[in-house]
Amino acid sequence: MLDVVAREGLARAGRWDADGEDVRLPAVLHPDTQRSPAPDFAQLTISTDPLGSAATIRYEGTRLTPEADETGEGLSLPRALIYPGGVDESLQKAADELNREEAPIQIVHDPAEVGPVTGLLVLPRAREVADDAWRLAGFLTTARRRAGPNAVIYAPGIGRPDQIALAAYAGVDVFDGLEASLAALSDTYSRVERPEGSAPPEHPACACPACRDADREGWTLDRLREHNRREQRAEVRRVRQAIADGRLRELVEQRVRASPAHLATLRRLDEDHGDLYERYAPTVREDELPVVGRRSLSRPEVTRWLDRLETRYQAPESARTLVALPCSATKPYGNSPTHQRIRPAIKHNARGRAHVVTFTSPLGAVPEELELMYPAHRYEVPVTGDWNEREEQVIRRAFEAIWKNGGYDQAILHVPPDEADIVEEALPRAERTVEPGERPTDDEATDRLGEAVRASVGDDQAIARDDMFAEHMDNRIDWQFGPGVADVLAEDTWIRGKYPWLRLMHGEDQLAMIKPERGALTLTEPGGRRLHEATDAYTIEIDDFRPKGTVFAAGVTGASEAIRPEDEVVCVHEGELRAVGRATAPGEIMADMDAGGCAEVRHRG
Ligand SMILES: [Zn+2]
Repeated sequence: MLDVVAREGLARAGRWDADGEDVRLPAVLHPDTQRSPAPDFAQLTISTDPLGSAATIRYEGTRLTPEADETGEGLSLPRALIYPGGVDESLQKAADELNREEAPIQIVHDPAEVGPVTGLLVLPRAREVADDAWRLAGFLTTARRRAGPNAVIYAPGIGRPDQIALAAYAGVDVFDGLEASLAALSDTYSRVERPEGSAPPEHPACACPACRDADREGWTLDRLREHNRREQRAEVRRVRQAIADGRLRELVEQRVRASPAHLATLRRLDEDHGDLYERYAPTVREDELPVVGRRSLSRPEVTRWLDRLETRYQAPESARTLVALPCSATKPYGNSPTHQRIRPAIKHNARGRAHVVTFTSPLGAVPEELELMYPAHRYEVPVTGDWNEREEQVIRRAFEAIWKNGGYDQAILHVPPDEADIVEEALPRAERTVEPGERPTDDEATDRLGEAVRASVGDDQAIARDDMFAEHMDNRIDWQFGPGVADVLAEDTWIRGKYPWLRLMHGEDQLAMIKPERGALTLTEPGGRRLHEATDAYTIEIDDFRPKGTVFAAGVTGASEAIRPEDEVVCVHEGELRAVGRATAPGEIMADMDAGGCAEVRHRG
């Protein structure tokens, strides 16, 4: 059984019960032979039987199944099939067939032939594609997607420290310990920041026991192998921690900078398999999203934002004037000193008819009512005002989507002139209110903005604050749950509280609230009832029980594929609401999972 405690991308951190032994994932599989014994710290080893052709996987130094071939039990696999060498394709295919039937370990050469697997899946061809940027992304992603959530994937040939973060992100759970020994045999000193490694340094900076000994007494093969293994182990631990912290993507972006091939692989993952990664990416995060480099523009949370602007978003009904404001380092924008100096000029002149949209990268544009939503509410990005072509394209598409999905008469660009240049063509009727040489916060500029807003709303009927707040709340609901849900969830409601601590009320019953640190709406039980009435897109079907705390996979019979980790969900049995909570796994794998949590529930129906 596999107990996943954290996920990011296609990577998982957790525990795998491998034939009675507990293995922490991601892990390294170490070959254990007389000439090259596995290290003391190995939690997973593979040991060759010198008398036969079978290699036996064993754990914590105990051989579990020395006669696996006869009994057909335990974890064993034929050595030749893991390291195929010159084995020809028809033999490999035949081996795949033999291994397909309920074997505790499946060996499949072609990822397109992988079926759902429970237990260990070995991908012997991983070695061939390990450094082939064009094939690796598709190879690993396809295997992970087809093998399903219960497969523990072992990729022989992938185990160099620099490869581990990226391959884990693409779904590999178990790495090849042999790589550390092979590097040592070719007199290579492993370095996580250098794919090619280096010659063993005379005075290594590394503080591992082997390096300390080598510093005093010089290098031996054993010392080099030990350092290489420790470098590998350290990276696996870093990856494990990064998955638990939700920081694996940052680690991957950092690692790929060391190698054009890795960078190309990540680009393929983002561009060819972005939809899959989006379905696994959380919709809420309480800490900030660090945007570290150009690859961050393609991370799933960022591409999802633009996608939802284009497919889910509808500008507030009564907004007549779109006012574009510049980005600021402080988020949410409403709290930024820049915006606090500019916004009164809008508020005092708009009579509720203006709609503030912040010009930003990498998200493109952030409408004011979505400022609290992840990742708009918190992301770290240097505000340089220096946009590359791709960023400009995203900004234009975002504004275009907002304009098209609204009933605006006019746009006012209260951004520096070079930013106005970028967005102007996306907005048919745009007026500039910042002159060359001015800053948007200058008095002359904000006065001009106030006049432009006043003129643009003209004689339009004023919109009451409560009505504007209600429109904004509807937009948050539809953004989170899909178009049309607000019609049901917010019907006959009012809003209590001071922004951003807003509560959606029906009479004196609370339906939902915004916690500023989460940004998204959190539902109460009556709120969950309304969500269930409005849509089945956030529904988990469960067996006949009353969930409390964690809803485990064993009790889940089905789930909507629209569910992303951290989404608000309802648990339902045969149409009856049983609980309200948040998802902890992507909806598309919930019904297939053998173990692990699918949701954490707060309210019982
Ligand atoms: Zn060392």
